[in-house]
Amino acid sequence: MSGNNGPDSSGAKDPGFEDQDIAGIAGNAIAHLDGNAVAGPLWELFRFDIVAAVGRCKHCGAVRVFGETMVYVDAPGIVVRCASCEGVLLRLVETPTRYWLDVSGLSYLQIDREG
Ligand SMILES: [Zn+2]
Repeated sequence: MSGNNGPDSSGAKDPGFEDQDIAGIAGNAIAHLDGNAVAGPLWELFRFDIVAAVGRCKHCGAVRVFGETMVYVDAPGIVVRCASCEGVLLRLVETPTRYWLDVSGLSYLQIDREG
């Protein structure tokens, strides 16, 4: 008879934002892009040009155009960091069925209205 005491893989279904620790380790600089790198995926969600939007960092208070952010696409999902303090502004994870969007690092987002 075989034992059944191994780890059970059932139940886990959240992508788990906690698994996205992309902190640089051992001086290995992580390449990043600017805010334009998330224009495509976020366009699918919001249908406005987020690159020109102005956001306020909840961590340091910096108010900058979204296009100036630092975008890390090597993480599981996309991580957008403040160019001033490197705090996480936004995280986006895509699964086959849905988006997971975390904007808890933004105090606000200011979006130009189309004329
Ligand atoms: Zn900041």
